[in-house]
Amino acid sequence: MKLHYALTAALVSAVLTSPAYAADEDYTIVDEPLELTIQMNHARYPVYKEDWPVEQEARKLTNIHLQDVTIGANMRTDENSGRTEALNLMLAGGKIPDIVGSSRLKDFVNQYGPEGAFLPLNDLIEEHAPNLKKYFDERPEIQAAISAADGNMYYIPYLPDGKYGRAYFIRYDWLDALGLEVPQTVDEFEAALRAFKTQDPNGNGEADEVPYFARQWPELIRLVTLWDGRSSGSDTYHDFYVDNGEIKHPYAGEGYREGIKNLARWYEEGLIDAEIFTRGSSSREFLLSENLGGATHDWFASTSGYNRLSSEIEGFEFKALAPPASISGKRIEEHRRIPIKPDGWAIGGTNKHPIETIKYFDFWFTEKGRRLANFGAEGIQYDMIDGEPIFKDSVLNSDEPVNAQLWAVGSQLQARGFFQDYNYEKQWSNEFALEGIALYDEGDYLIDQFLGVAFNADEQRVYDRYWGSIRDYMLERQQSWVLGNGDVVADWDDYMAQLEKLGLSDVLEVMNSAYKRQYGQ
Ligand code: CA
Repeated sequence: MKLHYALTAALVSAVLTSPAYAADEDYTIVDEPLELTIQMNHARYPVYKEDWPVEQEARKLTNIHLQDVTIGANMRTDENSGRTEALNLMLAGGKIPDIVGSSRLKDFVNQYGPEGAFLPLNDLIEEHAPNLKKYFDERPEIQAAISAADGNMYYIPYLPDGKYGRAYFIRYDWLDALGLEVPQTVDEFEAALRAFKTQDPNGNGEADEVPYFARQWPELIRLVTLWDGRSSGSDTYHDFYVDNGEIKHPYAGEGYREGIKNLARWYEEGLIDAEIFTRGSSSREFLLSENLGGATHDWFASTSGYNRLSSEIEGFEFKALAPPASISGKRIEEHRRIPIKPDGWAIGGTNKHPIETIKYFDFWFTEKGRRLANFGAEGIQYDMIDGEPIFKDSVLNSDEPVNAQLWAVGSQLQARGFFQDYNYEKQWSNEFALEGIALYDEGDYLIDQFLGVAFNADEQRVYDRYWGSIRDYMLERQQSWVLGNGDVVADWDDYMAQLEKLGLSDVLEVMNSAYKRQYGQ
């Protein structure tokens, strides 16, 4: 009888503690609250706020309490300029907080981590952070990409989700009006741009249409992919790219030469905005709302948003088209979201609680922590519906952008190491964006990205010595050729000789040695 009772009790207890019944998993890291200091620098949220609902929820769950000690909060940590003045100031002060979160953190920690300013994370993750370990085990290329030259990881990055960034967009209603099909090849794309220029699709009797325009002029250079050239290997313009395991630079290739030759011709024929290099960031807003712009290459979500103009411009339809096939028949979309950012957080070298801290970093990679990092606080920003976090109508219908609302509660912080969930963005993308993304998904047009290298000191010296002037020369020649000053084909041999003289081979050599060390090729 006694044995029978014991077995029944064991069964009952097994049932009661199975996940279906245990709604609240235990995320406690320490029994008594533990305070850890944090420096957090990001242009959008200049200090860490202890009253953020997301911080409050994380405190309740983990018992780790972050205390803001940010210095230099008013300094620029601009995502694009790569400024890290606040971090330099912190370092100069000689006191590094337990946790340091920032935009543009990667190069900083990879330089100062090996000198002791930050803790190496590999062993800590291996022994104490099962969720981080699982992530890096499944994505070894991410681990390789963020590692310093000594092979250690010194920060947990912000990891964007979702593959798609930019796409080709064209005025479908203009194509219709001129009796044209959606262009499928580079020749058909050229014919459509020429028809926009010469056949008055906006119907005002003037040849005022601007067939191809771009907010960022390198999106003109992007078109060299239509002649099998390349313009960049990553989401940074003019970057190196990987070709069969070897690092090359796109502006020293024959496809690029062919592309520039043809883009110069398009420019001369008026198929490209005459002000492409100078019109700047307002060009999309201006040329679309004035019913002048015909095609561009820009972000899915924001560009699709311009279909709201259909209320003012009869029939207005600006939609994504699949990348036109290149001269050799390849259809590629060179731009995509990068899977890792140089932003995230690291553990200070004098942190007395490295195990608790890595467990805290790991918390944000649990299902619950990831939801908190992506969607804000349950019941405030979102509700769980059929097992999925769904934003409240008050969030979706607010005048304030959804991402700005989330930053204000401590969510979607790029200065926190977390894995973004694209579903957060999908809930507020419009139908045209989702339709375009489905089109690109179907065709599988994305290509592999170059995720960057970490130089050792010798390599860094070579790169710093030569690269700036090589890049300046490349960009100066590029713009001249497009504008018709010089002929890329006639000038090509001299151009390549000048690149050699400026040290391109030396730069490629250190890029490749760093790349092989980092990615084991
Ligand atoms: Ca016109």
